[in-house]
Amino acid sequence: MSRLSIAVVGAGIGGLTSALALAGQGHEITIFERRTGFGEAGAGIQLSPNASRVLIELGLGLVLKRLASEPSRIVVRDLGSGKQIAAIALGAFASQRFGTPYWFVSRQDLHTALLDAVRARGNIRLRVGRTLTGITQRDERVELAFEAAGGAADAATADLVVAADGIWSRARASLGDGREPLSSGFVAYRSTIARADAPAALGDNEGGLWLGPGRHVVHYPIAGGRLLNVVAVEKREDRLAEWSAPVDPARVRSAFAGAAAPVAELLAAAPEWSAWSLHDLPAQRMASGRTALLGDAAHPALPFVAQGGAMAIEDAAQLAAEIARLPDDPSGALRAYEKARLPRVKRVQSAARKNARIYHAGGPVRLARNLVMRRLGPEGMSERYGWVYDWRLAPT
Ligand SMILES: Cc1cc2nc3c(=O)[nH]c(=O)nc-3n(C[C@H](O)[C@H](O)[C@H](O)COP(=O)(O)OP(=O)(O)OC[C@H]3O[C@@H](n4cnc5c(N)ncnc54)[C@H](O)[C@@H]3O)c2cc1C
Repeated sequence: MSRLSIAVVGAGIGGLTSALALAGQGHEITIFERRTGFGEAGAGIQLSPNASRVLIELGLGLVLKRLASEPSRIVVRDLGSGKQIAAIALGAFASQRFGTPYWFVSRQDLHTALLDAVRARGNIRLRVGRTLTGITQRDERVELAFEAAGGAADAATADLVVAADGIWSRARASLGDGREPLSSGFVAYRSTIARADAPAALGDNEGGLWLGPGRHVVHYPIAGGRLLNVVAVEKREDRLAEWSAPVDPARVRSAFAGAAAPVAELLAAAPEWSAWSLHDLPAQRMASGRTALLGDAAHPALPFVAQGGAMAIEDAAQLAAEIARLPDDPSGALRAYEKARLPRVKRVQSAARKNARIYHAGGPVRLARNLVMRRLGPEGMSERYGWVYDWRLAPT
């Protein structure tokens, strides 16, 4: 089997997972990352069974199990009245039904676990402070141009490039897709609160989803239950000046004025908030010649099915599998990767758009939604996304 030199651009969830999966096949990997430090504090991430399955297969199961929380359910309530609408069975149900756990972790913990695994591999090099500025295909090699510290130019060549440089991807533009991510008008405020500071009325080993017209709140335990991750989303007419920025807690409290007591207390307990302007970009291409686009670089999604990171993780597994199948034909392997991934990521993107409408519905649609959710029951609510959580690589 050919041993390829592979450049991975971006050391986020997608880039690191991809580096690990490809290094496991003996390829020589160099990761190029714009940042020089890796602070991911202040937010959690859901690792549904489709994502945890891949990470467990990569040998991260034990470390993630120690760092994760595994709530038994998410309780769905009306944001204004506080009345329970439904529940989503997770915990033991999800583990049994989908064969791998539904985990909730802090981003920092996930990122550190991935970085530690990357650093432990002799065939992965990590080069930080390198900002990709362009990609040029040359017959059987790909040339990469970077800007390094102080504006110095740097360059590299590789047999194959995995571009995992996130939603504002330079690589995507280099491959001829000049589209900018589209602002959805949604703003997500994120914070992390010590469990001890949160209202006792919120169950210990469970998460919450509070739905109101034009806004919703999600919270769940992370870090073994010591912390609660809180995300509050509203639709706003005015746009944030920046994509991600600190925000005044008073703005969050006023956006959620009139919320039921436990959730209002939860929001008031948050010491600080960051605001994220949510963007979307329909997936079009995931490969060109010897360059693969992966994760948010290829298919940024609204977070309403909590699958952006999970899709990046699936991409990484699929890409490694296609390269293992066609090690002597990297371009063919990337075409197969695109063919396998595009329909799925498009379906997940559209499920996220649909959920945005369902979560924020008002009037009769809201009443119908509540009825359907109640009728489905906790296991049925989980099963709605069985097609997402049950994903695995097709056998060779
Ligand atoms: C509010 C919110 C909640 C979410 N919740 C969930 C959830 O519960 N579950 C889930 O699965 N997903 C969730 N997501 C989505 C998830 O965070 C993203 O989809 C995921 O982080 C994408 O990973 P990535 O590796 O593709 O990109 P990123 O994590 O953005 O990583 C890109 C990396 O590339 C680097 N980079 C960028 N440009 C360059 C360049 N030019 N040169 C070199 N390096 C570069 C960046 O510094 C970064 O390290 C959520 C998103 C939001 C906004």
